[in-house]
Amino acid sequence: MKTEETILEINLTALEKNIHYLKNRLKPTTLFLAVVKASSYGNNSVTIASHLQKKGLVNYFAVAYTSEGIALRKAEVTLPILVLHPQPINFGDIVKYNLEPTLYSQRIAKLFLGYAEKQQLADYPVHLKCNTGLNRLGFDLSEIEEVLTLLKNNTTVKVKTAYSHLAASEDMNEKEFTENQINTFIAFQEKINTIFTHKVLYHQCNTSGILNYPHAQFDMVRCGIGMYGFANDTKLQQYLTPIMTLKSVISQLHTLQIGDSLGYNRGYIANHITKTATIPVGHADGINRIYGKGKGFVFINGKKAPIIGNVCMDMILVDVTEVPCQEGDEVIVFDKNHTAETLAEAVGTISYELITSMAHRIKRIYLED
Ligand SMILES: *Cc1c(COP(=O)(O)O)cnc(C)c1O
Repeated sequence: MKTEETILEINLTALEKNIHYLKNRLKPTTLFLAVVKASSYGNNSVTIASHLQKKGLVNYFAVAYTSEGIALRKAEVTLPILVLHPQPINFGDIVKYNLEPTLYSQRIAKLFLGYAEKQQLADYPVHLKCNTGLNRLGFDLSEIEEVLTLLKNNTTVKVKTAYSHLAASEDMNEKEFTENQINTFIAFQEKINTIFTHKVLYHQCNTSGILNYPHAQFDMVRCGIGMYGFANDTKLQQYLTPIMTLKSVISQLHTLQIGDSLGYNRGYIANHITKTATIPVGHADGINRIYGKGKGFVFINGKKAPIIGNVCMDMILVDVTEVPCQEGDEVIVFDKNHTAETLAEAVGTISYELITSMAHRIKRIYLED
């Protein structure tokens, strides 16, 4: 198929294969929660979650915000949906759409219990967030007993799972810190287990946790970036396939004479005769201005073409002096060979940031083998 405009191709078969690989590294009984926040990391959470549900590949979903969970419910996603970061103003929608809130602080726990009481809820599923060192959300070990006392004989809610999040699971220089987080989480589990008669499920691993700390898989893992094809590790990357391809097209070619300038604020001045290509993808599409001025690059006919001058809202300008090409030729911004991770790294960021930045105005196309 010829590329005629900027499109994001999403390979659902690669998504399935990535999940199979990740699950094969786990015990068969470990549940798999698919993290589909932020439009499934820049894809489309409704399409991804519906596909995973249809294929029976996952047990649970998680989103960051309540609005993301509502969108899934409206699209007939019926698996349980954990909301990682709810606010009190969301409680009505959470219950209305059968979403499962994280109780991450005394304040949130008290407010949700008050709401549950008022609405006369029974055994409403909730999740406890345990802080083991990320210091972002969650109860400290020293304060968990206080919330457990509140929950102990409370029939309005039921604690389904308790979880914690690793701060540096991809960085083996931080192994000692991570093992400490795991041990602290086990201490949480011991306290929680003394309170409830039912079995609370525990989970701590994200993608790099699955890959590097399988002994911390507990009852479930929460996987995001790995499903979308990034291992956060050069050796393990060979087992996963990035599912997104950002493609575009050369709209126009220009030839700059020595001294000519290119783009806004004359961000590039030619010191040699420069052939440039104008491509319809810009900072409003998720290619941040930081990729300009020679730092970022695209691939045209297999050759690397640096992004020169300033990134515009709807366009980038690339140097094709050494690249045989014509107007209408396909441009690869990233794909499974020229990965988003490599491009992100060139400007000092990570694949997560680049792929979650993909604007909704870019057309998505879904492929299945
Ligand atoms: C985003 C997120 C994840 C997923 O992490 P990946 O590194 O993408 O696998 C897991 N847990 C929590 C709490 C998160 O916020």
